[in-house]
Amino acid sequence: KYHEQLVELKGNIRVLCRVKPVLKEDQHEEGLAVVVTTDLNNESALNVVSKGKGRTFELDKVFHPQATQEEVFQEIEPLVTSCIDGYHVCIFAYGQTGSGKTYTMEGSVENPGINQRALKHLFNEIEDRKDMWSYTVSVSSVEIYNEVLRDLLSKDGEKLDIKMNPDGSGHLHVPGLRVIEVKSFQHIKKVTRRNRITFGTQMNQHSSRSHALLTITVLGVDLASGSKTCGKLNLVDLAGSERVWKSGAEGERLKEAQNINRSLLALGDVIQALRGRQTYIPFRNSKLTYLLQDSLGKGNKTAMVVQVSALERNVGETLCSLKFAQRVC
Ligand code: ADP
Ligand code: MG
Repeated sequence: KYHEQLVELKGNIRVLCRVKPVLKEDQHEEGLAVVVTTDLNNESALNVVSKGKGRTFELDKVFHPQATQEEVFQEIEPLVTSCIDGYHVCIFAYGQTGSGKTYTMEGSVENPGINQRALKHLFNEIEDRKDMWSYTVSVSSVEIYNEVLRDLLSKDGEKLDIKMNPDGSGHLHVPGLRVIEVKSFQHIKKVTRRNRITFGTQMNQHSSRSHALLTITVLGVDLASGSKTCGKLNLVDLAGSERVWKSGAEGERLKEAQNINRSLLALGDVIQALRGRQTYIPFRNSKLTYLLQDSLGKGNKTAMVVQVSALERNVGETLCSLKFAQRVC
C-alpha cells in the first residue's frame, strides 16, 4: 500500500532537468569550463563540480545537452494525453535567465518546443477518438509580472483579478479573462499570432521577469453515455530564478526580484506540501500558485523542467536551481 502511494506520488509530480548546450554566443566571457556533466549509465543523475568538490543530484530524468526537443517532449507526452482524459496538468520551465526555459517551452521555428508539440498531439488524439468522444478546446494566456495578472490575449494586456466563485464550490474564476475556442492546430497558431503572443518571444528583459502561462482547456463528451470530462493543460514559462538582489539591485528592480523570489518559493512550497501529503497547501502565498490551485492539487499531474547551464560562471545559480529541484523531487 505504501509503495502504491509512493508510485502514485512519483507519477503525479515529475522533476526533469535539461542541461543547455554550450553555444557559440556563450563563449565570449570568463568561466567557460564545463562543470555540469550527465552520466551515460544513469539517466537520472547529474554531476556538478564546484570549488574542487563533486556533487551528484538525483532527479526523475536528466536530459544531456544534445537532447532534442523531440526527446524532451516524449517525456511530457503522457501528461498531455491525460489532459484529454480529464486531468489537470501543469508543465513548468524553471531556471535562471538564459538557461533555455523559453527554448524548451516555445522553441524556435525549426525546433518547436513543448507548447506546439503538445497542441499538435492534443488535436491528433482528439481526431483519433472522434468516433467515441466530442471535444471542445479553448485557450487563454496570461502573464504575471510583479504579482499583477494581465491578459495576453487582450490587445492592451488588460489587468485581471482572481476571484472565488460565488457559487460556494471553492473554485476560482478570473472575470474578464479572454478564452478563445479553437478548432485546430492551425487555428490556435492564428489566434496566438494575431494577439502577438506567438508561442513566443519571451525574449526581452520584461519577459525574463514575468511568468507566462498558456492554458488549454479540453472539454469532452462521451458520445454514447453523455458523460463529461474537463481537462486542463497549463504551460508555464517561469520568470528567471536568478538571485538579482545579491548584485545590489535597488528600487523597482529589487521589488521585481523580491516578487519573483516569493512566487518561486511559494511554488516550491506548494509542490513540496503536495508531495508530503500535507493537508494544508499554501496556495495563497502568490498569484501564480493561487491561479493554478485547481491544477496543482490532488489527482492532478505536474512536470517541472529545471533548466541549467553547464558553465562554470553559472555554477552558483545552477546549484540553487538543483537544490530547488531536489526539494520538490
Ligand atoms: P530563458 O528563457 O531561460 O531565458 P532561452 O530559452 O531564451 O533562455 O535561451 C537562451 C538562448 O539559448 C536562446 O538563444 C536559445 O535559443 C538558446 N538555447 C537554449 N537552449 C537551447 C538548446 N537546447 N539548443 C539550442 N539552443 C538553445
Ligand atoms: Mg525566456
